Amino acid sequence: MEKDCIFCDIINGKMGTKFLYENDTLVVFKDINPVAPVHLLIVPRKHIRSINDLEQEDKKIVSEMIMAGKDMAKKQGVTKSGYKLIFNVEKGGGQIIFHLHLHLIGGWR
Ligand code: AMP
Ligand code: ZN
Repeated sequence: MEKDCIFCDIINGKMGTKFLYENDTLVVFKDINPVAPVHLLIVPRKHIRSINDLEQEDKKIVSEMIMAGKDMAKKQGVTKSGYKLIFNVEKGGGQIIFHLHLHLIGGWR
């Protein structure tokens, strides 16, 4: 857990955020400022700053995040209509929260 990290606080239940899914590796919750009808964040429990900071030992975490993205897309009913799975990387890549997360965005008609 990292000090002054809002996603670490969310993971540790300090913000009262409802999880749509959780397991030992990751949690899934709704983005507070959705850009589409479905906008979820898939967030590893381990504090990793960004994709740039991934180590070999994090391979399983990343693959679980992507699989969770696929599973959550199905639960949200957007599998057929389609969706985006996005990692923003560092400031120039649009990252504003420096705790790794995967955006699941979709639900357009
Ligand atoms: P990024 O730009 O990739 O760092 O995305 C961070 C995302 O976190 C943004 O889409 C924000 O709307 C979202 N966000 C920030 N604070 C919260 C929060 N407390 N609960 C849920 N989502 C949040
Ligand atoms: Zn964190």
